Amino acid sequence: MRDFLLTDSDKTFRAELRDFLARELLPRAPAIENDDDWTAVTRAIRALGEAGYLRLMFPDLYRGPLEHPGLTHATMVSEEAAYLNYAFETTIATALSCAYPLYRYAQPEVRECFLPGILGGRKIGAIAVTEPDAGSDTSGMKTRVEFDAARDEWVVNGFKRYISNASVADVYVVYGTSNTDVAANKGMSAVVVPAGSQGMSFPRRYSFMGRRGSVVGEVEFRDCRVPANHLLGERDAGMRIMVSMFNFERIILGGSGLGVARSAFEIARQHAQTREVFGEKLGAKQLTWSKIADMSWRIDAAELLTYRAARLYDQGMKGRDLAKPAAMAKLVATETATLCADATVQILGGDGLTKEYGRAEQIYRDARSLPIVGGTSEMARYLIASADLPDIKPDL
Ligand SMILES: Cc1cc2nc3c(=O)[nH]c(=O)nc-3n(C[C@H](O)[C@H](O)[C@H](O)COP(=O)(O)OP(=O)(O)OC[C@H]3O[C@@H](n4cnc5c(N)ncnc54)[C@H](O)[C@@H]3O)c2cc1C
Repeated sequence: MRDFLLTDSDKTFRAELRDFLARELLPRAPAIENDDDWTAVTRAIRALGEAGYLRLMFPDLYRGPLEHPGLTHATMVSEEAAYLNYAFETTIATALSCAYPLYRYAQPEVRECFLPGILGGRKIGAIAVTEPDAGSDTSGMKTRVEFDAARDEWVVNGFKRYISNASVADVYVVYGTSNTDVAANKGMSAVVVPAGSQGMSFPRRYSFMGRRGSVVGEVEFRDCRVPANHLLGERDAGMRIMVSMFNFERIILGGSGLGVARSAFEIARQHAQTREVFGEKLGAKQLTWSKIADMSWRIDAAELLTYRAARLYDQGMKGRDLAKPAAMAKLVATETATLCADATVQILGGDGLTKEYGRAEQIYRDARSLPIVGGTSEMARYLIASADLPDIKPDL
């Protein structure tokens, strides 16, 4: 549908990407879902990295056929990967969300140490924001990131939960309070913590209803020290880094939601055209075709808002200006994913609930996390309304 938004080279890119994922990801998807096979995940990531697909949003590091690579193309990678296996896609989306602040804010020597590995698919990245008392409300963060001038080191103490790639990542971007004398949004800093740092541990891996094959867990820091040059950007300016990272992540999540929604829709469409009920194809019945129509227009809306946000980013929009289009992309695409996953199970009837009759049940379980991760739907609505109601400043 969005073909009218794409250049010929974009269309060629997407066709090649689909072929690539059909070769490198599709055959590994059953092992990722059924056997929780981390090796299958890392092999597919390495293949993507070697082929240059993880560099798209960093045009100066990209070496490939596209003249103007950018977030638009990185979002396509997310969409097409999520279409085949959302758990796999979450792993690369998180790694890229870690790569983004490294690229923009790390000291050259730190950036050089970690970024090429992530973009080459050889290293995994993670971002650590969420805590037991700080999920949507990041101002409740208790993790401390303090500077020890005597040893010229940053010291991290705190507990993070729901961290994607916890324990399997090679590098962590960790947010914490560095100045308690000012408001939380003015006293936060972000530091780069390499895997294996003393004082960092992983108390628990969670068992989720979906996203099998992906790793999400807790990370604890006890007097975990990193060199002074591991600070990202300026001291106490972590909130600005977090806002730009979340904008980026939410557009990528638009791609994830879209891919998941499309995969559900294809199953429903196929079933509606083949299953016979009461002497007719299921799709000929109004209660079914109206579900198909609702899925279809929402997918188109999600596609348009997601790629609009990605294009705006590629055209240079940043910070608070980008927050509304990024939140809209995330909101519509992730809510469309859950709607489509649910409607597909309903259209399939009993077949929708079994592993024996295809992927509808997996997609249903996977989709549910999408309106929660990367900022919930409620927080996305808040960002949208805040931009629309500047005079009264909606609160939380
Ligand atoms: C699978 C998975 C992977 C994740 N990966 C990462 C990761 O890699 N790194 C990371 O840092 N975090 C990660 N997270 C955490 C995720 O970002 C948080 O779960 C999310 O931001 C919500 O925070 P919370 O779970 O603490 O819920 P809460 O903030 O406690 O919210 C609970 C509910 O209340 C609603 N709510 C909160 N405040 C308001 C309000 N003012 N008005 C109305 N409703 C409100 C929320 O929208 C939500 O529905 C992950 C989470 C999951 C489930």
